[in-house]
Amino acid sequence: MIVGIDLGTTNSLISCFRNGKVEIIPNRLGKLLTPSVVSIDNEGVVYVGQTAKEREILFPFDTARNFKRSMGTEKEFTLNKQTFKAEELSSFVLKSLKEDAEDYLQETIEEAIISVPAYFNDMQRKATKKAGELAGFTVKRIINEPTAAALSYGMDQKGESLKYLVFDLGGGTFDISILELNDMIMEVHAIAGDNYIGGENFTNVLAHLFLDKNGIDFDNLDLPTRNKLMKAAENWKCEFTKKDEVHMSFVMHGTVYETTIHQDEYEKECAPLLKKMKKPIEKSLKDSKLTLQDIDEIVLVGGATRMPIVRRFVKSLFGREAKTLIDPDKSIVIGAGLQCGIKSRDKEIKEIILTDVCPYTLGTEVISNNGIFDEDGHYLPIIERNTVIPVSKTTKVCTAHDNQKQITIKVLQGESRLAYNNLLLGEVSVSVPVGPKGKEVIEVTYTYDVNSLLEVEVHVLSTGAKEHLIIQNDTNRMSEEELAYRMEQLKQYKQSPRDEEANKLILLRGERLYEESSSYTRKEIDEAMMRFERVLASNDLQAIEREREKLKSLLDDLEQEEDDVFASSGLLS
Ligand code: AMP
Repeated sequence: MIVGIDLGTTNSLISCFRNGKVEIIPNRLGKLLTPSVVSIDNEGVVYVGQTAKEREILFPFDTARNFKRSMGTEKEFTLNKQTFKAEELSSFVLKSLKEDAEDYLQETIEEAIISVPAYFNDMQRKATKKAGELAGFTVKRIINEPTAAALSYGMDQKGESLKYLVFDLGGGTFDISILELNDMIMEVHAIAGDNYIGGENFTNVLAHLFLDKNGIDFDNLDLPTRNKLMKAAENWKCEFTKKDEVHMSFVMHGTVYETTIHQDEYEKECAPLLKKMKKPIEKSLKDSKLTLQDIDEIVLVGGATRMPIVRRFVKSLFGREAKTLIDPDKSIVIGAGLQCGIKSRDKEIKEIILTDVCPYTLGTEVISNNGIFDEDGHYLPIIERNTVIPVSKTTKVCTAHDNQKQITIKVLQGESRLAYNNLLLGEVSVSVPVGPKGKEVIEVTYTYDVNSLLEVEVHVLSTGAKEHLIIQNDTNRMSEEELAYRMEQLKQYKQSPRDEEANKLILLRGERLYEESSSYTRKEIDEAMMRFERVLASNDLQAIEREREKLKSLLDDLEQEEDDVFASSGLLS
């Protein structure tokens, strides 16, 4: 038996495909939702789910939640003086679900399909797989959450052909997917998202609003009080689903603090969050080359889409009501369960072909000529984001220096024009015969499979020598170190702002537009940015201003084009 798992930021669920249908398996408390919370007591006993949630108030230092947000990072959580990584804490949740399923099904479960946010990067996916393995599962497939939700939705749309946008707002992540279902072929056209927006952020806004109204500074609160307040704020947030005005009362160190907040005021406070949520929607539409008119339906997934604020936001953006799945909490685990049926070739399930896309661009670092001299550290995209997977793409690179003995290919993931801003996944080197610069040419082939497993092959054309690099689905020491190193680098990047505000602003804007653009426009921006950076180095103030104006007008034009696209589709309200 293979099980499907929705490993959520807030709650996790497990399902299987039995007797021709998906069954969601109840936990030891008879509940379908297991809170993704872990707590450890003085004896080293691990608590998961509702029990851990209860312990959180009393033992906040021995309890962890929201660790999904730190998957694939170096962040360590200390619980009862012991430290854990996010994947280790997740493995406790998975182990608990496994035990519940084994008890319910009365058999040993070894295989699992686990869902992840579509926007999870390679490290986060690997960390999820590792969590599954630590829990004793063989992870047969990592499935994108919105794809799973779309699958559970699409299965009910008998024989219809339709394009839909899945709007998935969970506890800690926000995913947008555009899919098309045609004669039992389900194609994902584009995915986009933000791993740092979710229902928890809306809870945070409300907690801060409550504190502001009572003249209290969040930074002055101790950890147990913060935890209690967040729990209270989550309840108040849910109350807004049923009424427009919520009376809030909270006891802090013996004093009662009270206030009444209207939904309109709360909504205003959420404006920056909602604004951020527009970006992935615009990106996914652009990448899928579809307009809003082409979309037949908007499907809401994830617990936080219950919020009237979110629903109003969706309606104002799309100009129409969205469809809600019967239960936004369960659609992902139902989809994962259906995937189990497909995977085990259950004869009761309709044959459905699912094609997915890769969420990020994959590329390598190259040297680019800026018109005067060669500049290293540039990013060469090889597989563009939202390319249908499995995919294989080849590009050619040559030696950059005279008498170069080897070429090293850095395998990078990300959208930035500068290599070091992207995530380093691995490196592969190949020896080349010495000679003048540019003489030796190698072919670099990137192959990306359905589980987002990347394989890189380099081939020296003159000698026929070949080297392989498989970015394995198990994290090795080296890549963890590299990740930490890169994060340190990113911190330094942020801390070294350029003196001149206008120059800094235009550079940042250029970087952003580059990241959002397609390959053709990217080249144009890259060249303009290089021209500007060259002039900037000259310290000739007049020339800098002239070039900045030129760059600005190019970026204005590009952004105007983009606004026009969305204005015509009614997306920007
Ligand atoms: P999920 O990760 O899909 O389980 O979503 C969890 C998020 O949904 C959490 O931030 C919850 O606070 C939020 N949520 C669940 N039910 C409601 C509700 N009735 N109103 C507002 N938010 C909710």
